[in-house]
Amino acid sequence: MLHIALLGKPNVGKSSLFNRLAKERIAITSDFSGTTRDVRTQQIDIDGRPCLLTDTGGLDESSALFGAVKTMSLSAAKKADIILYLVDGKNYPDEEDRKLFYSLVKLGKPTALVVNKADNDKDKERAWEFGSFGAEVLIPMSVSHNRGTSNLKKWLLTFLPALEEAPQIEEDEDEWDDFTEEEPEELLPEEPQDPTINIGIIGRVNVGKSSLLNALVGEERAVVSDVAGTTIDPVDESIMYNETIFNFVDTAGLRQRGRIEGIEHYALKRTQSVLERTDIALLVLDASQPFTELDERIASLVEKYELGCIIVLNKWDIAHADFKNSTEAVRDRFKFLAYAPIITVSALSKKRVAKIHDLILQVHENYARRIPTSKLNELVEEASIRHHLPSDQGKLVKIYFATQFDTCPPRIALVMNRPKAMHFSYKRYLMNRLRESFELEGTPIILIPRKRG
Ligand code: GDP
Repeated sequence: MLHIALLGKPNVGKSSLFNRLAKERIAITSDFSGTTRDVRTQQIDIDGRPCLLTDTGGLDESSALFGAVKTMSLSAAKKADIILYLVDGKNYPDEEDRKLFYSLVKLGKPTALVVNKADNDKDKERAWEFGSFGAEVLIPMSVSHNRGTSNLKKWLLTFLPALEEAPQIEEDEDEWDDFTEEEPEELLPEEPQDPTINIGIIGRVNVGKSSLLNALVGEERAVVSDVAGTTIDPVDESIMYNETIFNFVDTAGLRQRGRIEGIEHYALKRTQSVLERTDIALLVLDASQPFTELDERIASLVEKYELGCIIVLNKWDIAHADFKNSTEAVRDRFKFLAYAPIITVSALSKKRVAKIHDLILQVHENYARRIPTSKLNELVEEASIRHHLPSDQGKLVKIYFATQFDTCPPRIALVMNRPKAMHFSYKRYLMNRLRESFELEGTPIILIPRKRG
């Protein structure tokens, strides 16, 4: 059984994370440093896949017990298969953390740098500061606010064998009852277990949104709200596809024809409310008619919300157009959606509609992609050698390193000496290089220049 070890200085949140993953509260957590001193191990399961989890005492040099605790913690790390090194995201990175982290990386095991206490978006953005550690995987999260734990689990799941290969564990019913009785109130509800992709169907009136919804949901229109761990909004419709829930957002109204619609203002308002809850937008265009300004305004909202996107050229059956010319027209008109794949369909005859399902899975995979730090930095270095950053008033502009600090969509901090000197054209050049090297079709890439602190 795979063995995961939690390491880090005292008070960074190891015990809270242990409890969250173990779904119970054994360790006493407190604001006093060093409340949990001993190493403890428990069998847990992550999305039904069993593994062992070890919480180690804090690695704190100021503690009198430091020598003993450090030895214990390091030996726990040596025994483990996967290491999670936690740091406190509310503090600045320090040398001690960096050294400890390096000594763990040297063990040659999959090691993630978990930046805890990223309680809000602002904290999360600051996690890039820990990018200087050069961790292959950096995961900002907040155990207490239940943010980012699903990202961590997703990463861990890539190492855990699937259920059918995993050894069966016997469940002791009495013990289970005890646990449920003691379920602590402070714990926030678990994030939904089943992978769910929220999909928004957008476009102006009469382009075929309702027809497309019908064709996509089709016979499988089983609403999956009774699948464990899912919460479906009453205005949404969901289907299960390849063990993933496709949740079509805010479809109320899309099924009734002939409603009063068409006011531009209404179309844009609906689009916004859909996009707020969406991961992937299906932008529906009518291929049988010239594109309009409203198409463009709706499309520009996808960019604003930084969503994955697929452009659906509908009514292909009556378009009398050739693919090359039509896609060129789309690319020309919707320049800011250059990353989105284009698919031609007929929602009426359902022709090619089935291909959209796989495209959604692929685009979502790209949207959630995590680029290994070393590969990312190799690329940035190579790109900047090939094409130098323009100097800023005679001063050399340099990127020290790049760190992906978030997914959905991928967000990458470029840590540099003069972030203000980063030109849009250079950003675009780097984005193109990233797209050539990694599978990122359908997702925006957000590059954020930052000054090294
Ligand atoms: P919505 O307003 O975007 O939801 O558009 P509807 O789905 O109500 O479709 C508007 C009209 O276009 C209806 O009369 C549909 O039958 C028709 N329509 C939708 N998709 C297609 C298609 O792929 N081909 C053709 N020929 N007609 C379509």
